[in-house]
Amino acid sequence: MLFTPLLTVAQEPKSNPYGLQVINSYEDYRASYTKNPNNELIEIKKAIPNIKLDIRYATKNNFMNQVMYKEARAFARKPVVTQLKKIQATLNKKGYGLKIFDAYRPYAITLAFYQKASNKNFVANPKKGSKHNRGCAVDLTLIDLKTGKEIQMPTPYDSFAAQASPSYSNLPPQIIKNRSFLIDTMQAYGFRVISNEWWHFDFIGWKEYELMDIPFEKL
Ligand SMILES: [Zn+2]
Repeated sequence: MLFTPLLTVAQEPKSNPYGLQVINSYEDYRASYTKNPNNELIEIKKAIPNIKLDIRYATKNNFMNQVMYKEARAFARKPVVTQLKKIQATLNKKGYGLKIFDAYRPYAITLAFYQKASNKNFVANPKKGSKHNRGCAVDLTLIDLKTGKEIQMPTPYDSFAAQASPSYSNLPPQIIKNRSFLIDTMQAYGFRVISNEWWHFDFIGWKEYELMDIPFEKL
């Protein structure tokens, strides 16, 4: 079998079809955060209780049209969550808040996305892995704190349309303003938006973190 089956027990590092180093045993993960506490994957909701989650991959409401996560949870490396907490505080003062669609993503899920996706430009190449696999990327949008509803952005989450690009400009001014507000806020705290997805932000320190393949239920 070439690919790691979905949501099964992690396999030995040598079984990775692309020869990548991927941490896939809890023991290796624990050793990594014992050595460097920043490597710990923190549950975002525990650190930021008022943050809203809409973990689409734990439902069928995603581009795969199937449940990819057994649990609707979101994790990221410790410094990433520290920054998200600051962002949430800043936004809350202005009447807004974050809504997380996805954060740390086990490598096996990235493999499955790539095999199934019709448009490979919108999914990470498993030869490199995704910054989500490093616990250093977050997919998110803004909500109005009063209504709890998302503020209007150029496309829905995970749209494969050209309008999903953060540089797409043929849009109503209010939508451009909303998108800039999100991007500027995230960038002020050490995140960078990706070129084809207005909702995807990489943490600038991502290179220091290894790819991981540990399912949520083990964290
Ligand atoms: Zn993403």
